[in-house]
Amino acid sequence: MQAEVLIVGQGLAGSLLAWHLLQRNTRLIVVDDQHRHSASLVAAGLINPITGKRLVKSWNVEQCLPAAMNFYRMLETQWQKPVYHQKTILRLFASQQERELWARRRLQPDYQCYLGNAAGDGFHILQSGYLNTRDLLLGIRDVLRQRGCFIDACVDYEDITFHSQEVRWRHISAKRIIFCEGHGISNNPWFNALPLQPAQGEILTLKVAAPLPKSIINSGKWLLPIDAQTAKVGATFQWQPLDSIPTAKGKQELLDACQRLCPASPVLEVLDHACGVRPGTRDKKPFIGMHPRIPQIGVFNGFGAKGALLIPYYAERFANYLSGSSQLPEETDIMRFAADW
Ligand SMILES: Cc1cc2nc3c(=O)[nH]c(=O)nc-3n(C[C@H](O)[C@H](O)[C@H](O)COP(=O)(O)OP(=O)(O)OC[C@H]3O[C@@H](n4cnc5c(N)ncnc54)[C@H](O)[C@@H]3O)c2cc1C
Repeated sequence: MQAEVLIVGQGLAGSLLAWHLLQRNTRLIVVDDQHRHSASLVAAGLINPITGKRLVKSWNVEQCLPAAMNFYRMLETQWQKPVYHQKTILRLFASQQERELWARRRLQPDYQCYLGNAAGDGFHILQSGYLNTRDLLLGIRDVLRQRGCFIDACVDYEDITFHSQEVRWRHISAKRIIFCEGHGISNNPWFNALPLQPAQGEILTLKVAAPLPKSIINSGKWLLPIDAQTAKVGATFQWQPLDSIPTAKGKQELLDACQRLCPASPVLEVLDHACGVRPGTRDKKPFIGMHPRIPQIGVFNGFGAKGALLIPYYAERFANYLSGSSQLPEETDIMRFAADW
């Protein structure tokens, strides 16, 4: 079977890259190992334009947020169902200094569209919300299946062979392979030298007694109301271990956070407890580009804890590059590591 591009991994990164390539009529195969190590399926899909203790704009938010909104709205129109849910975030002030910082930031013209009014012990963040990552992944997988370009399998790197004009895996010959394995990149013999900084995290889905607030509440951890009695609470953050096994310690930490963030809504039941690994990078920027010595292989990865915000913009840019219509975005090009790679 011939393809122009073989994509390994169908998380948010592989899915959106595949989508954009299909729009360009690229002959494509996507392979995924049944989401065995999927951060995307675990993620709450939050988009928060203002982050950190210093209340700074998320990196490249001006470019990435409009691209993300356009992409999710376009999918909703095609699929006739919601994918992205707009919701303000109520960020609780951690201290008097943070309250003063918010007041100063609000005066900065480039922050005004993201910072709302004070509300009780916090302030509102605007242009925020969450992506239903599961629906998006399953929806795109259906599209790929209908077009006959999806394979359920685990790619063993030893089965990949290189030839002058192409690269082969099993019965597939492709001009290029693009690896989108999330934190699985650490097993990839061609890209495991990139400075990945993975971090494990856990999330609970809870049934609660009382009606929940309308906004997402954020104070270190966050509480995301899904409907009147269901909420997600997240997320823990650990450098080790890097597996997808939920822990009793993580569960307790999140139950405590729920009680602190929303004391009026006691927990009735834990509906789900999930764990995954964020594919973070040491310089907090994605890994996008082609291998310096093997031109047939590329990488689209390193979206850390911000895949829902960053991936739509960079998937389109990378698809343009792969179709020959533009250069790679410089700020995320893996050639920035060429000196020590
Ligand atoms: C607890 C937690 C909370 C998060 N919350 C948010 C959030 O609120 N907002 C946000 O934007 N982001 C969040 N993230 C981060 C988000 O999940 C990532 O940015 C994004 O999902 C990364 O997508 P990806 O496609 O690169 O990786 P993944 O989703 O991990 O996808 C990689 C896919 O490749 C497959 N694969 C790997 N190796 C192979 C192989 N050899 N052969 C075949 N298939 C393979 C994997 O099984 C998987 O399906 C969170 C992550 C975690 C863990």
